[in-house]
Amino acid sequence: MRIKRLKLSGFKSFVEPAELRIESGLTGVVGPNGCGKSNLLEAIRWVMGESSAKSLRGGGMDDVIFAGTATRPPRDFAEVILFAEDAEREELEVVRRIERGAGSAYRLNGRDVRAKDVSLIFADAATGAHSPALVSQGRIAAVIAAKPAERRMMLEEAAGISGLHVRRKDAEQK
Ligand code: ATP
Ligand code: MG
Repeated sequence: MRIKRLKLSGFKSFVEPAELRIESGLTGVVGPNGCGKSNLLEAIRWVMGESSAKSLRGGGMDDVIFAGTATRPPRDFAEVILFAEDAEREELEVVRRIERGAGSAYRLNGRDVRAKDVSLIFADAATGAHSPALVSQGRIAAVIAAKPAERRMMLEEAAGISGLHVRRKDAEQK
């Protein structure tokens, strides 16, 4: 799985529509404190289905929506679109949109899908919102301090097998 392009609108500090290309190889994001580097990484995790507001440094999911500043009014929705190419070189276009008070909706290549469908795609490719492919601030220290069970979860994410647990749970409930 390779992330190729990202479009953001109303997501945290990215209030105006912004688009960026991510080239092959290692990508570094540099800029002064508070310019939105971590927000950018969070946008990628969010569109992949991140469901924990806390891990996006918010109290609730609506906190990802641009909250306004002294000179700009708040927005009532946030949208992130991720363009990627999977191992079979198929193009993927994933859209996640949240409206204030109304929750998130997802689209995969133009079709409405569930949050779970999106997270499974990325979990299977070992590039999901919790995968070690995305190293956010403080993550290295967290790995060192993790308990064995937490470390096993990280290894399962890296191996691309964490989606199997979700499917097993589903199968057991049926
Ligand atoms: P550092 O170098 O300190 O890690 P950074 O480049 O990672 O900084 P971020 O944490 O990505 O910076 O961005 C923080 C900025 O995003 C703050 O100015 C904060 O006010 C702004 N921000 C976060 N959430 C929202 C929101 N919902 N609405 C508007 N602005 C937001
Ligand atoms: Mg940061």
